[in-house]
Amino acid sequence: MQILVTEFMDAPAVERLKAHHEVTYEPQLVDDMPRLLQAAPKCDAVIVRNRTQVRGELLAALQRCNVVGRLGVGLDNIDLDECQRRGIQVIPATGANANSVAEYVIATAMLLLRGAYASTADVATGRWPRTELSQGRELAGRTLGLAGFGSIGQLTARLGKALGMNVMAYDPAMPATNPVYAATGVAATSLEELLAQADVVSLHMPLVDSTRNLFDHKRLAAMKKGAILVNTARGGIVDEAATAAALRSGQLGGAALDVFAAEPLQASAHFEGCPNLILTPHIGGLTVESNERVSSLVAAKVLEALA
Ligand code: NAD
Repeated sequence: MQILVTEFMDAPAVERLKAHHEVTYEPQLVDDMPRLLQAAPKCDAVIVRNRTQVRGELLAALQRCNVVGRLGVGLDNIDLDECQRRGIQVIPATGANANSVAEYVIATAMLLLRGAYASTADVATGRWPRTELSQGRELAGRTLGLAGFGSIGQLTARLGKALGMNVMAYDPAMPATNPVYAATGVAATSLEELLAQADVVSLHMPLVDSTRNLFDHKRLAAMKKGAILVNTARGGIVDEAATAAALRSGQLGGAALDVFAAEPLQASAHFEGCPNLILTPHIGGLTVESNERVSSLVAAKVLEALA
């Protein structure tokens, strides 16, 4: 059978697919829509990351495709209703990049709370900004608020607990009676309570209608003054202009944003010169280890689905 891979996939996983099927591996194909549309009708399975939009014209061209492998977990680039209607199985890499994201959350929270790691140029050139950099905050003893308590939220809770944080989580699909709270030592809470209590608020929910623009001006203002916001979930959940304004006013003590409403982010007047801000190009889930895990998991599941 024919498998089309339109974005980067780890080499050993591609080889594993090739051992069983005819594979077209073109990691740049996502940027060449005419050629992608030309290749689509021939394939029985397509494997994508988050940039290939499996909807509309492309989905219509995938005439005999039965399987969509997703090298990641968010499914907002796939028209799930239409796939279901056509009996196309969608296979995400659930859990395989969770640790990379969880480590990103803890690392950026520590960097932003401490605020002391950008002194290399000063120290190397003989300045000694010891007084300015002696007011950093510790992670231990602070409260981590997780908005969304699925696989990444739960792993982030484990890392936060291991470092001595108090952890609370809000997830509308997981009532306080869910045994996962007792098992992880995490307090179930409402979004309002989480915003009022947490020193670090980290988002781990999908982008759906009910979460679009959830972190708007009002909710950012309801956070504890000086708290840190980390968004590795999806752009569109956080209002970017309101986040920049909250950083400038000191309402937010820092923010790490890995995902944006439009990616790549265009040069943005909101963020220029914004204090205590870490911006990364949607790499929260990308590490050497997670690339291997994600690719090998999807390869195995796609092979199983085609068997
Ligand atoms: P998951 O499906 O395991 O968990 C998501 C949780 O969010 C679920 O428990 C769900 O009940 C909850 N949720 C739904 N609506 C909510 C709401 N309104 N408020 C609070 N919680 C809500 O997903 P996951 O694997 O933990 O991934 C979480 C997010 O991280 C997703 O948006 C995913 O796209 C994103 N992600 C980003 C990267 C990256 O590179 N930055 C990598 C992996 C995943």
